[in-house]
Amino acid sequence: MRILLVEDEEKVARFIRVGLKAERFAIDCARDGKVGLQLALINPYDLLIVDLMLPEVSGTELIRQVRRKNADVPIVVLTARDALADKVENFECGADDYLTKPFAFAELLVRVKALLRRGMVNRSNVLRIADLEIDRVAHQVRRKNTLIKLTSKEYALLEYLVTHPGRVLSRTMIIEHVWDQSFEGLTNIVDVYVRQLRAKIDEPFGKKLIRTVRSVGYTISDSEEE
Ligand code: CA
Repeated sequence: MRILLVEDEEKVARFIRVGLKAERFAIDCARDGKVGLQLALINPYDLLIVDLMLPEVSGTELIRQVRRKNADVPIVVLTARDALADKVENFECGADDYLTKPFAFAELLVRVKALLRRGMVNRSNVLRIADLEIDRVAHQVRRKNTLIKLTSKEYALLEYLVTHPGRVLSRTMIIEHVWDQSFEGLTNIVDVYVRQLRAKIDEPFGKKLIRTVRSVGYTISDSEEE
């Protein structure tokens, strides 16, 4: 899952980024509202965390503009202000939840997970391909009921494959979705991670689910054909 954080206070931004990375989210950060808005309109985020008092474009304006294009992405507002009028204004412009600074990271995490869960009500929290099971809220992976430990990037890669079953995903698509903007490297990083993932979720279990599509990319599927 990929989250956009728009926050101009470096200390707060770092604290949130470090915490969410440890929880296996990919995080992009913007230091002002203008950059934040640009990123929010180009990239497929699963959730936005937006401070209200921002340089260039205010958080409220950013949310208003994002909502015109994307009615569904969950948005959490962060702010030092706790006046009721501000709260009302932000819910009206399209925020889903509201956190007043200072807050504990655990509180933010609870709200982020609750919004992601709500967003997935129509889809399922648990995705399945054959006997492989992925719980997208607990971030747990099981095959034949055996819990499999993955690193955060392995997990993100697997989740991306499993949410697009049978579809061939190119290395570039995988990098754009699984790695965040801080990533500047070679696309063969994808091959390295696919190899690690196969060693954990495929090789010990007999039937191979991840397939290589030569010179294109990868796909995951339950089908028998090679
Ligand atoms: Ca601020």
